[in-house]
Formats: sequence, C-alpha cells, structure tokens
Amino acid sequence: MSDLILETRGLTKTFGGLTAVSGISLQVAPREIHAIIGPNGAGKSTMVNLLSGHLLPCAGQVIFNGQDITGLAPNKVSHLGVGRSFQRTNIFPSFTCLENCLLAAQSRLKNSFRFFRRGDRYPLVRERAEKALEACGLSSKGHSIASSMSYGEQRQLEIGMVLATEPSFLLLDEPMAGMGKEESNRVVELLAELSRDYSLLLVEHDMDAVFSIAKTLTVMVNGQMLASGPLDHVRNDPAVQEAYLGD
Ligand code: ADP
Ligand code: MG
Repeated sequence: MSDLILETRGLTKTFGGLTAVSGISLQVAPREIHAIIGPNGAGKSTMVNLLSGHLLPCAGQVIFNGQDITGLAPNKVSHLGVGRSFQRTNIFPSFTCLENCLLAAQSRLKNSFRFFRRGDRYPLVRERAEKALEACGLSSKGHSIASSMSYGEQRQLEIGMVLATEPSFLLLDEPMAGMGKEESNRVVELLAELSRDYSLLLVEHDMDAVFSIAKTLTVMVNGQMLASGPLDHVRNDPAVQEAYLGD
C-alpha cells in the first residue's frame, strides 16, 4: 500500500441531482502513467478537480504519498507536489515562454508576488523556470512570445508551467486535445520521457496515445468506474470492450 503515490477511496462528487463521480477507487504507483479514459461527461475532469483540491468531494478520500489530502485547498495540494494542467490552455499569451515559466515557478514560493524583481529568490526561480522549459522541450523558445507559437507548442508550454512548480505528481487533463498527429506524437514522447522522473495521471481521449504510454488505466462511464488496473487487463475487460471500445 505504502508504495503508492496516489490513491482514491470511494471518491464521490454530486452536482445537485447528478453524480459526476461515483465511488471511484484507483491507485497509482510512483513513476508510472495512469490514464483515465471515458466519453464526454464521464466525470474525468471532475476527478482531476477533486485530486487537485479545486473541488471538494461529497464522500471518499484522496491519499497522496501516504497522506490524507482530502479537502485541502489547491495551493496546499500544489505545495505537497501535485501539479496540474487544465483542459483549456492557461498560459499568458503576451508573455514569453520563459516569463510564463518564471510566473509558474514563482507561484510555488510563498510571499513571492514581487514579479521579476531580482530579489534573493530570483536565481532559484530562474533556475527552476529554465529547467522546466528544457524538460518540456522548449529550451530554444525561451524568448518567443507565447501567442506567436503553434497551438501544440503552447500546450507543451503549459506542461512546462506545471513542471516549473516542481511537482512530483502531474495531473494532465487532455494535454493533446485539439492537436494534429505530429503534435500529439511529440507530446506522447514528452510524457513518456517525463514518466522517468514523475508520476502522471493523464486524462486523454486519444486512444492510440493512451495505449502507447499508459501503464495503468481507469475507464469511467457516467461517473462510474468500469474497470481499473494494468493496461492490458483493463483493455481486454469484456465490460470495457462492450461499453466503451465498441465491437
Ligand atoms: P468529462 O471531463 O469526463 O467530460 P466532467 O467531469 O467535466 O466530464 O463532467 C461530468 C459531469 O458533471 C457532466 O455531466 C457535467 O455536466 C457535470 N459537471 C461538471 N462540472 C460541473 C459543475 N461545476 N456544476 C454542475 N455540473 C457539473
Ligand atoms: Mg473533461
């Protein structure tokens, strides 16, 4: 049990009469990619919001690194090492890539709203930002204005911004959404590389991408967990075949 980085137990969220997430229990081991798949409205983004502290569960628990983090505020969850991206891009379009990463790196430090002042902590922030840019494959684009880059690069930058907060665990909500094949292949490679150093929970529509990099998989339909576990096991589960993969 203790070798898990993330575990949920009976996690549940209702909105009025709608149960968006219903008693989900899943487990993620360190340095693996765990993917959540399921049709639109399945409850995937709600799961991410429950894990990052952006939503409070109605029932159930979130255990991160052996610590119960259920109900902690997003900034507390982030300080413990959970970094997240959003389904829609969240970058500052008129800033450079480096500036975007500097902002993200700075957001991790307390009492650090002196944007770009060369205070004591600036070298540390700068180092983290540069490291993050390199890790997301954009080190040559540090001085490019974010809005001038391709859509794929902007989404890559978003991953860089998550990395700049120095997480150990990454929550990525559809990082390949809206990308062409070439762009999404680049992100698949990036994620595979990141999984050497980080644990990842990936919400993704692109089945080819999921099957090529995820080690474990949870399938959700209508808030319910249809199956969860090692990729091949889940993929061949008759209920999953029937309800989600078709044929
Ligand atoms: P997915 O990411 O799998 O497409 P979501 O988690 O976004 O699904 O949504 C699951 C269900 O919960 C949907 O029916 C959606 O309309 C509903 N939902 C999500 N967020 C809210 C909210 N803040 N208020 C009310 N209903 C919501
Ligand atoms: Mg979603």
